[in-house]
Amino acid sequence: MTDRGRIPVIRDPANAAAAAKCWLGRTKGPLGLGAFHPEECDFCHEEPAILIRALHEFADWSGLNWRSERYDPAAPNWTQLRPEIAEFTRLPREQQAKLVGQSQGYIPEDDD
Ligand SMILES: [Zn+2]
Repeated sequence: MTDRGRIPVIRDPANAAAAAKCWLGRTKGPLGLGAFHPEECDFCHEEPAILIRALHEFADWSGLNWRSERYDPAAPNWTQLRPEIAEFTRLPREQQAKLVGQSQGYIPEDDD
């Protein structure tokens, strides 16, 4: 994550998933589940309110959010995702999980 103004900016989909897991894991209520956030992760230093703002910004930027500038009212059932997001969605599920686990700090980064 880098800081743009006062909102940390997330551009890596694995980082976004890791940040979302951290936020969900630390949020009290029905979504406050810890199975995917069993211990402190690399995003725990951020306040939950900051994390959710960064995730909203990521969703707008990526095209995952219908409020994104990438949303075209003329084609309401299709929003063009950023290439980085589309590429991540095409990875095998195990590779996605590994990248997210690395972003969380639970899995060591590859040396290669
Ligand atoms: Zn965390």
